[in-house]
Amino acid sequence: MPSEQTIIVIEDDPNIADLLDTYLRGAGFRVLLAGDGERGLDLISQQSPVLAILDIGLPDIDGFEVCRRIRSKSAMPVLFLTARDGEIDRVLGLELGADDYVTKPFSPREIVARVKAILRRGQPVASADATIISIGDEFDIDISRREVRLKGQPVALATREFDLIAYLATNQGIALSRQQLLDGVWGADWYGDDRTVDVHVRQLRKKLGDELPLATVWGIGYRLG
Ligand code: CA
Repeated sequence: MPSEQTIIVIEDDPNIADLLDTYLRGAGFRVLLAGDGERGLDLISQQSPVLAILDIGLPDIDGFEVCRRIRSKSAMPVLFLTARDGEIDRVLGLELGADDYVTKPFSPREIVARVKAILRRGQPVASADATIISIGDEFDIDISRREVRLKGQPVALATREFDLIAYLATNQGIALSRQQLLDGVWGADWYGDDRTVDVHVRQLRKKLGDELPLATVWGIGYRLG
């Protein structure tokens, strides 16, 4: 296995692409650059990078479509670059399985930190930490397999959705504030806001159904169980 991990940057603005290239290589990554979506998808299938940094406004197919096509084949983490609020809403609202997003203009150091955080999350936990947490009679959260099962059937969740339900489950019965959830799930260096938590809670409720004992605690945040 090569010691350098390969990251693909799909971005049509050469200045941004160069900047990311410089910083990511400086952090020890191998970098592939693609100026449009089709080229990016070709490089992904040829070289199997470990993570994609994906601009939304691309000259051919947009970043959302690129992400959908990536997702049809792999669970490779995707970090979106967004330019506008409307785009952030779509990143959070669509079930694309985006792992994170950064709003332009951004600091390249922040991108490198996010990339490292995403790749750390993807690493397998030691078997000693393998835990299955039950919620009520219907749900099992298998931390080591990163799987949520409803009546024994796995339910497909995006990375952050899983992280959120796992965090709530390890704090079962405790009302957690949105800020606590942001810190615990997204990390203290995350620049997002409460809306991020709410959107992910909505997705969890939608995917896991009414049986999920995830309560809104007015004036505080959320409590599982
Ligand atoms: Ca662009």
